[in-house]
Amino acid sequence: MATIFTRIIQGEIPCFKIAEDENYFAFLDINPLAEGHTLVIPKKESDYIFKMDDSELSGLLIFAKKIGLAIEKVIPCKRIGITVIGLEVPHTHIHLIPINAITDMEFSRPKLKLSNDELAGICEKIKQAL
Ligand code: AMP
Repeated sequence: MATIFTRIIQGEIPCFKIAEDENYFAFLDINPLAEGHTLVIPKKESDYIFKMDDSELSGLLIFAKKIGLAIEKVIPCKRIGITVIGLEVPHTHIHLIPINAITDMEFSRPKLKLSNDELAGICEKIKQAL
């Protein structure tokens, strides 16, 4: 069965899409730790990042770099933190999170409650910065 992220890529489930190319896709995390928290995924399903081919993995990181630099332009922060967890959704994804302190990467922290309008506005700003 297709993963929830494959269903997002296919447009069956809505998302706040930032960018895609032939192999990769980026969209806002629906339960963000920070404004601009983005997920970057391969279109080809893989349940664990270390199972990816070297070329696919390096392509994913290069795609994530482009997205991270765009986030950085429009969301005030010191850095874009990068992490991979994957305990919830078995489809490889890189979290890109604008951070100002190490604690901003704490996934146990309460998530932001952003409206669809706010998420749409953030998404648009990042897209414009690409
Ligand atoms: P993890 O697999 O532990 O890295 O966590 C999965 C991440 O995917 C969480 O941060 C969720 O908020 C996010 N997520 C799950 N479903 C969706 C969705 N439909 N749209 C956007 N983000 C999602």
